Amino acid sequence: MNANRVLVTGGAGFLGSHLCDKLIARGDEVICLDNFFTGSKANVAHLLDNPRFEIVRHDIVNPILLEVDQIYNMACPASPVHYQYNPVKTVKTSVIGVINMLGMAKRVRARVLQASTSEVYGDPKVHPQREDYWGHVNPIGIRSCYDEGKRVSETLMMDYHRQNGVDIRIVRIFNTYGPRMSVNDGRVVSNFIVQALRNEPITIYGEGTQTRSFCYVSDLLEGIWRLMNTEGLTGPINIGNPVEFTIRELAELVIAQTGSRSEIVRMPLPQDDPVQRQPDIALAKAKLDWQPAVPLSEGLRLTIDYFEKTLREK
Ligand code: NAD
Ligand code: UDP
Repeated sequence: MNANRVLVTGGAGFLGSHLCDKLIARGDEVICLDNFFTGSKANVAHLLDNPRFEIVRHDIVNPILLEVDQIYNMACPASPVHYQYNPVKTVKTSVIGVINMLGMAKRVRARVLQASTSEVYGDPKVHPQREDYWGHVNPIGIRSCYDEGKRVSETLMMDYHRQNGVDIRIVRIFNTYGPRMSVNDGRVVSNFIVQALRNEPITIYGEGTQTRSFCYVSDLLEGIWRLMNTEGLTGPINIGNPVEFTIRELAELVIAQTGSRSEIVRMPLPQDDPVQRQPDIALAKAKLDWQPAVPLSEGLRLTIDYFEKTLREK
């Protein structure tokens, strides 16, 4: 496949920075755009000398016009702690920001991929979640700025596609983890690993019986890349690892793999915390010939190595 000029919004964040690496490695020209709310220049510092890589400080809530072939719209805080910090801004990012990206895609005839989320299924009553499930989402709770924001982003994508013929891709990402999550990200995998490495209490919210299905970052990005570069698909399509764990099982695995002396402590369960989550990936298998390859134990080992190094350097 030919090299492309590619825009990655949120390119200095966890997923975005790995995506920049992947695109640079395959020969694309990459513009990384970020407002550095949760991302950092350190995540892409190793790319700055590459003549095919550029970084732009910009907030997608404001319009911008860049001549590119493809847009990966990854910009949006993903951790509950961060997206609830300024919920109105989170909604603006998923609504005004997505309108801006779609407007640009329409103008320069770029293909645009929207990073949507398993959160569009809310606290799901159908298990595992298939793409044709409409979800069970609280429109007025503390998670709504993110969940409903992403649902509107999908609506906007489909309407620009139907109304203006914009070439779109929607990916529903399930919990993904790996190196470059920030130490204070607040999501469960990074929290547990950092707590374990510091021999601090591991904070389980609620009973720890709620489930998530954890996907390693390299698997996720391969799925997203295939979706972007497959003809004749719009999505939405689930990308995630279907192997489901309880949060307590995750805590025990992290303790075992770090050899930590940490104890498990219980904290209150946040409002509207989904009880269970597991992707049905039949569509990704059929349409993208994709399935995850990295089991949790291996992905955890790589992520623990990363955090060990990061905490040592702090
Ligand atoms: P992250 O917080 O590490 O990265 C988000 C990036 O977007 C950061 O660099 C941040 O500074 C930037 N950003 C935020 N708002 C912006 C704005 N208005 N303008 C410009 N830049 C902005 O999170 P992540 O895990 O890398 O998530 C990336 C994308 O994937 C998000 O859209 C998120 O909703 C989606 N997603 C991630 C997961 C996951 O498990 N990692 C799951 C579902 C969906
Ligand atoms: N969680 C936890 N301890 C933590 C952070 C999170 O028990 O220190 C729980 C959280 O309540 C949720 C699950 O882990 O049930 C996943 O949380 P995360 O914030 O990673 O993602 P999301 O809820 O958005 O899937």
